Amino acid sequence: MEKVRQIKRNLKLEGIIIRNYRIQDYHKGLVIFSPDIGIFHAIAYGGYKGKSKIGPSVQPLCKGKFDIYQDPVKKSNKILEYEPYVIYENIKNDLKKYFTALTWLEIIVKSHGGGESTTDFYYLLSESLGTLEQIPEILMDRLIVQFLLRTAILLGGNMNPSECGLCGSKISIEEPLYYSKSDSCFTCSRCFSHNSEQIAAGLKKYIEYSLQNSLEISLKVVIENNLLKYFKSLLYSIIQEYLEENLLTLKAGKDYLV
Ligand SMILES: [Zn+2]
Repeated sequence: MEKVRQIKRNLKLEGIIIRNYRIQDYHKGLVIFSPDIGIFHAIAYGGYKGKSKIGPSVQPLCKGKFDIYQDPVKKSNKILEYEPYVIYENIKNDLKKYFTALTWLEIIVKSHGGGESTTDFYYLLSESLGTLEQIPEILMDRLIVQFLLRTAILLGGNMNPSECGLCGSKISIEEPLYYSKSDSCFTCSRCFSHNSEQIAAGLKKYIEYSLQNSLEISLKVVIENNLLKYFKSLLYSIIQEYLEENLLTLKAGKDYLV
C-alpha cells in the first residue's frame, strides 16, 4: 500500500495566549491570537507534567514566539518551542487591570479575531496590553476608551463624529451631535430619533482628535471624567451590539470596571 505522503509544515509566529485548557490528563491546550493567522489552537504535549519545559511558561496573558508543527493528519498544531517575550505580571496582579484585559480578550474571541482586521486588531491588543501593564490606575479609563473606540472601528463600526451617518451631511463643532443606537452611527440633529443620545461637544472633539492620532498620543488628552465614563459605557454597549451578545467578563468584573 502506498504510504500517505505527509506534508510537514513548520510555522514560526508571534502570539498572545488567550487561554489554556486541559486535553486528557497531561496535555495543555492553548488558544493563541497571532497577527498572521488570527485565533488558533495549539497543544503543548505533556504541558501539565511537572517536568515539562514549555508547559509552565505557556499561560494566558503572555506574549511570545511559537515554533509550531502543523500535523496535517491529526489536523492539530503542536508546540515545539516557545520563546517568551512578555509576561503581563502587573495585569495579572491587579484586579482592575486583570478584568480589563479579560474583557479585551473576550471581545477578540467573540469577534473571531476581528475577521479581516486581524493583524490591526492584534497590534492594537499588543500595544494596549503593553500600556495597561505600565499605566497608573488614574489613566486606565482613558486607555479602556481608546481600546474600545479603536476596536469598534476595526469591527466595522462608523465612529466618525464629523459626518451624519444617515444623511451624510457634515456636522460642525457648533451643531449638536447625536449617537443613534438603532442605526449604530453618529447623526445630525435633523436625523435625530427617539433612540438617539446627545453627545457633548467636548466628547465630539475628543473622538475627532482620537481618530486622527495614535493611541499613545490620544492617551495624553485630558478629558472630563464624567464624559469619559459616559463614553466608556456607550462604547461597551456599541461593541456588545456589534458582537450580538453580552460580554461575560464585563458582568463578572463589574465591581472593578465601572
Ligand atoms: Zn443627518
